[in-house]
Amino acid sequence: SMTELQEENLRLKEEVLEQQEKLTALEMSVIAHLQDQVDTLKELLLEQSQEINCLRLKLKGVMDAEKHQDLLESENEQLCQEMKMCESMQQQVPCQDCPHLQENAVLRQQLSQLQQEAEEARTKLVELDLEVQQKTNRLAEVELRLKDSLAERAEEEERLSRQLRDSQETIASLKSQLQQGKCIFKTVEVESAKTKQALCESQSLNHYLKEQVAMQSEVLKEMEEQLQTSHTTASHLRAQIMIYEAELEKTHGEMLEKVQAMEEEKNCAIEEAFFHAQAEMKAVHENLAGVRTNLLMLQPALRTLMQDYNSLKHQVQNFPLLLQEALWSAKAEIRQAIEDVDSTNQDLLRKYQRELQLRKKYHNELVQLKGGNIRVFTRVRPITKEDGEGPEAADVVTFDTNNDAVLHLLHKGKQVSFELDKVFPPQASQEEVFKEVQALVTSCIDGYNVCIFAYGQTGAGKTYTMEGTADNPGINQRALQLLFNEVQAKADDWDYTISVSVAEVYNESLRDLLAKEPQEKLDIKMCPDGSGQLYVPGLTELRVQSVEDIKKVFEFGHVNRVTECTNLNEQSSRSHALLIITVCGLEHSTKLRTTGKLNLVDLAGSERVGRSGAEGSRLREAQHINKSLSALGDVIHALRSRQGHVPFRNSKLTYLLQDSLSGDSKTLMMVQVSPTKKNASETLCSLKFAERVRSVELGPASRRAELVSLPSQEHPEVTRVGTTATPSRGHASPSPGQLSARAASIRKKQQVSG
Ligand code: ADP
Ligand code: MG
Repeated sequence: SMTELQEENLRLKEEVLEQQEKLTALEMSVIAHLQDQVDTLKELLLEQSQEINCLRLKLKGVMDAEKHQDLLESENEQLCQEMKMCESMQQQVPCQDCPHLQENAVLRQQLSQLQQEAEEARTKLVELDLEVQQKTNRLAEVELRLKDSLAERAEEEERLSRQLRDSQETIASLKSQLQQGKCIFKTVEVESAKTKQALCESQSLNHYLKEQVAMQSEVLKEMEEQLQTSHTTASHLRAQIMIYEAELEKTHGEMLEKVQAMEEEKNCAIEEAFFHAQAEMKAVHENLAGVRTNLLMLQPALRTLMQDYNSLKHQVQNFPLLLQEALWSAKAEIRQAIEDVDSTNQDLLRKYQRELQLRKKYHNELVQLKGGNIRVFTRVRPITKEDGEGPEAADVVTFDTNNDAVLHLLHKGKQVSFELDKVFPPQASQEEVFKEVQALVTSCIDGYNVCIFAYGQTGAGKTYTMEGTADNPGINQRALQLLFNEVQAKADDWDYTISVSVAEVYNESLRDLLAKEPQEKLDIKMCPDGSGQLYVPGLTELRVQSVEDIKKVFEFGHVNRVTECTNLNEQSSRSHALLIITVCGLEHSTKLRTTGKLNLVDLAGSERVGRSGAEGSRLREAQHINKSLSALGDVIHALRSRQGHVPFRNSKLTYLLQDSLSGDSKTLMMVQVSPTKKNASETLCSLKFAERVRSVELGPASRRAELVSLPSQEHPEVTRVGTTATPSRGHASPSPGQLSARAASIRKKQQVSG
């Protein structure tokens, strides 16, 4: 029985061990299972939260879509306004190809796009719903599985507890067996020592086994505790799962609500947009209809316009031809008219020229009758740098703006006024001066003798007026130029020769400046033929034909001129310079000859000797100059006052110019003055001289009466040939007979040329 017991013991031990192993395995499996479940649940949770995030994002997207919708709505409103504006504009101006139509189309497209988007959003929502459904299904599944696993565990636990109970029962039975064993042992003890020993051994073994059982029960207790803790953890986990589930359900519900609300909002918005769009569409349609009607109305107008345009185009195309024709005819007419006008013009011109000549003659005669063939001009030179500055250079000459024949001089604080035939102020140009003497120059072609004198103190502008400068020539060059032009114009009927002499009267002797030996003094002689005419033997006469010729002549003459410097510190000419231009004419048809002489005289300085401070030869020069100038003044005065005696012989100059001063000759005295204060007394002298020359006015009526009353009987022909001077008549005033003879000769000339 011992062995039985031992075997039994061993078996029990094995069984306990087995149980232990099974328990640990079960425990491990349960723990692993639970861990697994917890992990899967965690994963699920994570997924759910991600999904929730996803849904939230989508929600946000929906919100963005709402914003976009808002934007679109505002845009829509703007467009509505624009459309209204366009409508108003369209009412004024019906338009074709309106950009708003295109805009409308674009809007319509946008609307359809939006609708599509809404549709898409809706399908997406449905999809999301499905997904949520799936998710909840899966959750339910998981829950079911969890329940299953929990049931399994409960079963297992039950089984385990059953086994435990079994093992406890076996242990109890074993204990009772052990009691039986003790009784036996007592009997056995008595039986044998050996058995005693064996008993001892078995007792120790028993003891050991008891210990073992105690240990086993302890282990069991521990196991139970562990089981308890696992139970608590399981319940804990279950509670957590419950919480999660509840949360999940809650979030799901919220999500559903949100989705619902969003859907509603979206639907609302879409509906609104749809309505808006419909209304807009309607409006656009109406607009379109209006525009269409407008277009229909416009079409006929356009058609008529096109027709008009075509007809106009046709006309325009034809226009150049018409224009050309018109132009041709007009041109022809104009040409004809021009030709007509031209011929009449030429006729008129011819007549006019004839009349002009007549007028010139009659004017001359009139001037002559008035005793006005001696004229006195005054030219005031401008203030120059040489005048310097200060009170002595002050301007003392003033003019009358209303009367160009009056000049005022401020002399020693008093204003002295002078009246002359004409006054040239400092700003008068060479051209203006020449214009005034032009008539005199041309009358020379008609056979008159002319004298132009420049009188004045040194530096008053005599040479400037007569000769001028290279680029602004004076009377000399301009006169010759004019003569050339006039002669050229008359070349059809007349042959003219122009010749010049340049001479100088210095210290009462005459010198030929064009001669090879200019120092030679020339005489003025009576013609040996007994006609009483004067001539200058040996005086060089050069024929000139152009301005170039004249320039050469002047240059040559200049070289020979006697000029000296006085202490007036200026270039001063102490001699009278003469340029004698002779114009001889021969008319082709009548062989009528005319000779006119133009004497251009740059007189010596008129300043008084005391002022020049001259001595010796200079004094003699000055005396000669004074003498000749006063002789000239006397002669002109006598001529103008028609005195019986004209003192030509008092000086060489007047004697030489006798024939150009007397008779129907014309004389111009150009009195040059300086405007400065320091020259005021010389200016006063010059102007007094001018006035003295000019002062004698004759009663024109008496002269005229004289002229009219006397018949033309003397000097039936007045012709001058060559350069020989006319005979000195002692007194130079032209007799009425002479005048009428002259007039007769002019009349004759006119008849011949006309
Ligand atoms: P004159 O011959 O009387 O001695 P000029 O003709 O030599 O005097 O003139 C003296 C200066 O005054 C010259 O330098 C001349 O150029 C100048 N002059 C004279 N008159 C004028 C004028 N009208 N305009 C400009 N300069 C003038
Ligand atoms: Mg001079």
